[in-house]
Amino acid sequence: MKCPVCRALYRPASATAEAAQSCRRCGVNLSPLIQLHDRAVWHHRQAIQAFRAGDYATAIASNNQAIALWSNADFHAFAGQLWALQGEFPQAIAAWKAAQQIDSQQAIAHTALQYLTE
Ligand SMILES: [Zn+2]
Repeated sequence: MKCPVCRALYRPASATAEAAQSCRRCGVNLSPLIQLHDRAVWHHRQAIQAFRAGDYATAIASNNQAIALWSNADFHAFAGQLWALQGEFPQAIAAWKAAQQIDSQQAIAHTALQYLTE
């Protein structure tokens, strides 16, 4: 996660809880952002659980909630996999491209798009 103010890479400090919630470089309070991120990760994990249980509709809904909270390459890549499993390739390709826009090295999206263009 990067600080939205100064773009410094945020790392959870081992110091006090309060220090761990602030950017080390510019000191901005990042706790609302961290809460948002944690909620997004929670939804993404729910999506993975639903996916493992074979419930793709719930998996897509939960993963979309994660994406609505936090734009993360892994979330978009997982959305691509879910769409592809349902045969919805236009949506899958759009999701993988969104993943690559955030992180051009996102492995799942990179591999999937490579297969599709070969
Ligand atoms: Zn900062």
